[in-house]
Amino acid sequence: MTEAVSTNFIHNIIEKDLENQKYGDAVLTRFPPEPNGYLHIGHAKSICLNFSTAAKYGGKCNLRYDDTNPVKEDMEYVNSIEEDVRWLGWEWDKRLWASDYFDTMYDAAVELIKKGKAYVCSLTADEIRAYRGTLKEPGKESPCRNQSVEENLQLFEDMKAGKFADGERVLRAKIDMASPNINMRDPVIYRIAHAEHHNTGDKWCIYPMYDFAHPIEDAIEGITHSICTLEFEDHRPLYDWVLQEVGWWPTPPQQIEFARLNITNTVMSKRYLKALVDDRVVDGWDDPRMPTIAGLRRRGYTPEAIRDFCERIGVAKANSTVEVSLLEHCIREDLKMKVQSRNVIENPIKVVITNYPEDQFEECEIENNAQVPEMGTRMVPFSRELWVDGADFMEVPVKKYFRLFPGNEVRFKGAYFITCNEVVKNEDGSIKELLCTYDPETRSGSGFEGRKVKGTIHWVDAKTAVKIKIRNYNHLMIPNEDGENVLNPASVEETFGYAEPAIADAQPGERFQFFRHGYYIADSKLTTDEEKVFNRIVDLKSSWKPGK
Ligand code: ATP
Ligand code: MG
Repeated sequence: MTEAVSTNFIHNIIEKDLENQKYGDAVLTRFPPEPNGYLHIGHAKSICLNFSTAAKYGGKCNLRYDDTNPVKEDMEYVNSIEEDVRWLGWEWDKRLWASDYFDTMYDAAVELIKKGKAYVCSLTADEIRAYRGTLKEPGKESPCRNQSVEENLQLFEDMKAGKFADGERVLRAKIDMASPNINMRDPVIYRIAHAEHHNTGDKWCIYPMYDFAHPIEDAIEGITHSICTLEFEDHRPLYDWVLQEVGWWPTPPQQIEFARLNITNTVMSKRYLKALVDDRVVDGWDDPRMPTIAGLRRRGYTPEAIRDFCERIGVAKANSTVEVSLLEHCIREDLKMKVQSRNVIENPIKVVITNYPEDQFEECEIENNAQVPEMGTRMVPFSRELWVDGADFMEVPVKKYFRLFPGNEVRFKGAYFITCNEVVKNEDGSIKELLCTYDPETRSGSGFEGRKVKGTIHWVDAKTAVKIKIRNYNHLMIPNEDGENVLNPASVEETFGYAEPAIADAQPGERFQFFRHGYYIADSKLTTDEEKVFNRIVDLKSSWKPGK
């Protein structure tokens, strides 16, 4: 990827390391997802950061599955992760599995035991927690802490051989029970889990903990800068301790933390998102309301917009929450010069042009994208009966309403000036149709300058209209009275619309601006030749202001 990458504090660290030749000229990063769910836009930030940083310095980035936890992983997730990374526009150097290093990790653990730096502990999980102490009080040493090296080696082998049940023993690093950093108070580095692993099957019944496995994974691969999120800052001393005590790598990788991405009106936790899927609150991981990459893709977001967003939010050392309106701004910016517009009517009201001959029909030339003349024009049919949008008519207009109301003349975009003369009602009082007249002199493109009108609205010819399904999406989460994010009960509104006939050619995944409404995409799963289903990507108006 050749995109310009702005500089940030991580780049400053790397540049200093390059200057000092700490790792020679190498810059190797990795994106290490745990394959226990679909990636979300928070992961996109990490992906863009890792891949663009490597690219900036002529380095490489690996995709590594952090599959040290046997129970939660699934090939469906693995496939989705690869699709998402590629879709975002990145290509990994190597695709690797942490579980491929289980032998090395085991050897490293044995090494620590031999050096007297690790011991097998028989305390229960609750006891370990109680012994750990608090921020104010030092921890208490485990009775197992002073077992001999031989005893520990034997017990660790017994753990590996399956002689203990889950939880009966753990391997702990022997560091410092009085450390002010609780992570350093003899952390557990191996645990027993009699569970089938997707990669290693039943070869292992002991599995390394993240804090032990991750630095070793990085070191084996020759990662230079191991970029992770801020909650691991307090774990960095342990990361360094593991690599130093194992001692096999002369210039071990270094961990660098950055603030994780949070966005308003949504949630960024795989666990929570999985619950929404499992409880069928949403229609799968790629539900267009989801902040997953798959959801955003189906919603109509482009990789360019997401990369632009990740670039704009920058890389910081302090946690914060980004306004979802910035993400929406990025997709509008990306689409505005790229997509064609179509006339689509929601909440339709019938207009009958009483002075237009019944059997007459003409075509109006309308530009595909008013901002990009090179995108050409299309011919849109016009005849006596048309649909206009519910929002473009008021029987009793409010102040400064310049659209259609009885007695008012407006421009029908690309066609004629039209005057509304009469409202015809159904028996129940609802509007049946609007009786209007047109002025043949005012045809668009004729150079008519006789008078001006203030309102311009769009329309769809009734005879040739194509009925489409429309799903207008709103935020997944909204704040309640206490300011907490809760599920928005109106996160999707299903409706229908009348579209100009050109919409019949829309292919699944094709995007348009529905003129004066917003950006829409033909749903990639539900759109067929017979039925068009459109998702609203984003509306047209922006609440985001630069510098807000
Ligand atoms: P979650 O809490 O949503 O399950 P995770 O951190 O457990 O996320 P991983 O699969 O372990 O998910 O994450 C892979 C990488 O993505 C990690 O390096 C992690 O730090 C990064 N990452 C995850 N969430 C975010 C986020 N919101 N912002 C930035 N980076 C993130
Ligand atoms: Mg994780």
